[in-house]
Amino acid sequence: MKLIDGKLISAEIQERLKQDIEKLEKKPGLAVILVGEDPASCVYVRNKEKMCQKLGIQSLVYRLPAETTEEELLKLIDELNINEEVDGILLQHPVPAQIDERKAFNKIAPEKDVDGFHMINRGKLAIGEDCFVACTPLGVITMLKHENIEIEGKRAVIVGRSNIVGKPLYELLLKENATVTVCHSKTKNLKEVCAEADILIAAIGKPKFVTADMVKEGAVVVDVGINRIDGKLIGDVDFENVKEKASYITPVPGGVGPMTMATLMENVLKAYQLRKK
Ligand code: NDP
Repeated sequence: MKLIDGKLISAEIQERLKQDIEKLEKKPGLAVILVGEDPASCVYVRNKEKMCQKLGIQSLVYRLPAETTEEELLKLIDELNINEEVDGILLQHPVPAQIDERKAFNKIAPEKDVDGFHMINRGKLAIGEDCFVACTPLGVITMLKHENIEIEGKRAVIVGRSNIVGKPLYELLLKENATVTVCHSKTKNLKEVCAEADILIAAIGKPKFVTADMVKEGAVVVDVGINRIDGKLIGDVDFENVKEKASYITPVPGGVGPMTMATLMENVLKAYQLRKK
């Protein structure tokens, strides 16, 4: 079994980005909007801020109160869309219930949509055009490629069909010529379907959901899940038992999480370069 060290791969990407950004005449800018005080979101936003500082990206963080109205949020997005200092805009998911999150994502100018959640970018990904791709799924592909894991012709199974992880990952794996199955809460015979996977990706949000009996001997197992249990981060995969069967496996923490962050920074640089053109 080989552990895929997301932290290490992320550090390599960051180093490369830092060097590329140093050469630019102007710093790229990322605006992050956080509505409310969801504790996990607060940590993510702080980490994004820190990484921007480290890489020489100018970060503007907008911490809005939980009672912010949809109108107020859309107005801020409008302002950021035309702000020349801002190359990328990220609205931290999830937003409070009074705001239509989809409407807010669609308000972000597609060329500044570094999270790849705007319907134009989602549509472009679906039809195979170059676009901004959601950071977690793209980070997963980068990880697999970094380890020289063959994707073409492989049977890939994704558990989870969210717009943020499962669905874009389906499109990316298909683009890499895998044969892809997407499972969800209504899937029948989930265990059997998972056990057919050469590449098994868990994006469910349930701690240790994927057990060893769901994994084929020699499979590549990617754990996207982040579950907070008693202050500890636990993945969706029963790591200790599954690692005995997997050829490659990602840990939690230190797997997909750091890849998401590094990919976001890559997307900010891409937005900067596209806007320059
Ligand atoms: P969602 O809650 O949006 O989606 C979860 C998916 O899992 C749904 O499609 C759901 O099915 C499916 N599911 C739930 N229960 C079962 C079950 N019993 N059997 C089969 N499928 C099931 O979550 P996200 O996609 O946003 O996130 C998934 C996980 O990944 C979370 O732990 C999240 O914290 C983590 N995450 C990690 C990131 C990172 O950077 N590492 C980034 C983003 C997310 P259905 O559609 O039928 O309800």
